[in-house]
Amino acid sequence: MKLPWRVILLWTLPILVIGFFLFQGSFAGTPANFGSNTASTRMTYGRFLEYLDAGRVTSVDLYDAGRTAIVEAVDPELDNRTQRLRVDLPGNAPELISRLRADQVSLDIHPPRNDGAVWSWLGNLLFPLLLIGGLFFLFRRSNNVPGGPGQAMNFGKSRARFMMEAKTGVMFDDVAGIEEAKEELQEVVTFLKKPEKFTAVGAKIPKGVLLVGPPGTGKTLLAKAIAGEAGVPFFSISGSEFVEMFVGVGASRVRDLFKKAKENAPCIIFIDEIDAVGRQRGAGIGGGNDEREQTLNQLLTEMDGFEGNTGIIIIAATNRADVLDSALLRPGRFDRQVMVDPPDLKGRLEVLQVHARNKKLAKEVSLEAIARRTPGFAGADLANLLNEAAILTARRRKEEMTMLEINDAIDRVVAGMEGTPLVDGKSKRLIAYHEVGHAIVGTVLKHHDPVNKVTLIPRGQAQGLTWFTPAEDQGLISRGQLMARISGALGGRAAEHEIFGDAEVTTGAGNDLQQVTSMARQMVTRFGMSDLGPISLESQQGEVFLGRDWTTRSEYSEEIASRIDAQVRSIVEHCYEEACRIVRDNRIVIDRLVDLLIEKETIDGEEFRQIVAEYTTVPEKEQIIPQL
Ligand code: ADP
Ligand code: ZN
Repeated sequence: MKLPWRVILLWTLPILVIGFFLFQGSFAGTPANFGSNTASTRMTYGRFLEYLDAGRVTSVDLYDAGRTAIVEAVDPELDNRTQRLRVDLPGNAPELISRLRADQVSLDIHPPRNDGAVWSWLGNLLFPLLLIGGLFFLFRRSNNVPGGPGQAMNFGKSRARFMMEAKTGVMFDDVAGIEEAKEELQEVVTFLKKPEKFTAVGAKIPKGVLLVGPPGTGKTLLAKAIAGEAGVPFFSISGSEFVEMFVGVGASRVRDLFKKAKENAPCIIFIDEIDAVGRQRGAGIGGGNDEREQTLNQLLTEMDGFEGNTGIIIIAATNRADVLDSALLRPGRFDRQVMVDPPDLKGRLEVLQVHARNKKLAKEVSLEAIARRTPGFAGADLANLLNEAAILTARRRKEEMTMLEINDAIDRVVAGMEGTPLVDGKSKRLIAYHEVGHAIVGTVLKHHDPVNKVTLIPRGQAQGLTWFTPAEDQGLISRGQLMARISGALGGRAAEHEIFGDAEVTTGAGNDLQQVTSMARQMVTRFGMSDLGPISLESQQGEVFLGRDWTTRSEYSEEIASRIDAQVRSIVEHCYEEACRIVRDNRIVIDRLVDLLIEKETIDGEEFRQIVAEYTTVPEKEQIIPQL
């Protein structure tokens, strides 16, 4: 953050001035101030009395209202040389004065210096003045800060809250796992570096690039890398910064931003979350939003206003291109769209390699194994994961990061903070049965992902957890797999029901049931996997306020709605029965696994499978990953 020098001055000035007066005040009228009287050696009061008794004192000068004295005394041991000594006196002692007079010691009393009084008076006056002045300046300043208390008074000249980085220091090398996007954007670097190449043949350089992808996939990083590779400044602002209470503020911010950018061309303007301003106009609940529309209009005007070859390229990021106003996507605006998808297995490995560069990893650490354990992680999650592991390593005072820290970090990133395990008791036993229920159903069913581990150590909201390892990156999921997942998710409740009876089932399955219902519903309405046939009845559900989705809900009749419900119920019931059957059939091994789990708190997948295999056949899964 830049601290304006005025503020620095404001706060250092009073401190300096006060310090000066304190300094003056404390020394005014004290001997230290009088060059001729300076006495370096001190003498105790007792010693002074002894000297007085011995008749060695020749003169006494009193300062500081009689609290300090400079004493001249002769020293018989040094040929009666006169010594000047300083004595601190215990207050104003009238007896001392009479004693001195009786002894005929030369006595002088020095009043406090007058100018000291003047200074301290000035000091007293100046301090409040400075304080008032300072407050006044601060108040003025806060008026200029958008969002500060004085905003309503001068929103017209609001300052854009954008950030400018002269050098981002990010290169394409730092961005991994999104090769297609990188290739697409390589060209943008050339636009910035060698525009002649394109203008020579009459090509218009595109003005805008839209990066579309979920959060954390590296959109900001990519934009920075373009600026870094081209060696141009990077301006960034978030779309939500444009959206203000007052009509016109956002538009004036857009103007400011483009003005600054033009002064610094060639450069990159990065607008994060462009959907905050760029949503379809006139959509959403409550009709249009004047402020947003004005801002968007201003943005469009600015984009049209500069010629394609001024050297400014606007990169915008969003995770939903479908809600953007079509005007934004017209040629000459954001006509290039680049998808930034979450990384696949190979991509995750590359991202991990980038972020492992500056970390100390033990030899045994396999980044590939980490990549396998983290399907669905975006670049930012992976970066965060390695950072968490590094923090754990430091906390455990280890030299290098091992697989132990990394696995703990994954658990933590996925499921939240570790809690303290329950003490042994009925509820711990019930949770153990619940988790083993998930795990056994997952192990026995052929299409289910293999168990990674079962644990009774609570994390986040969950009292116990069963982890599964997806066999591979699953872009496409089969009906069999979905059914197996639903059965597996119902395994917990099935075990509670079979073992403890209907009256004892708990709320612990709430989360499981939510997932189950959503999976079953999507099977019916989106994937055509029920008796209703291969029809799509619902598009992906989106929030109403995002614009277009408002009109695309429930295009089916009441009758279809009740048939959907019936289908969902039939899928769930079928899977629940299957789960209950598996629990009943495997009761003996379940009891044994529960005892082991309560004793050990965690059973890893390999051991779990081995024990189950002693009692029943465990189907060969597609690919069982070495345990991490
Ligand atoms: P987005 O803008 O898509 O939400 P960011 O670019 O802000 O995501 O990513 C946040 C951080 O996550 C980055 O600073 C970087 O450390 C890490 N990261 C994200 N994606 C990648 C990637 N593809 N390669 C390397 N690091 C990444
Ligand atoms: Zn559960």
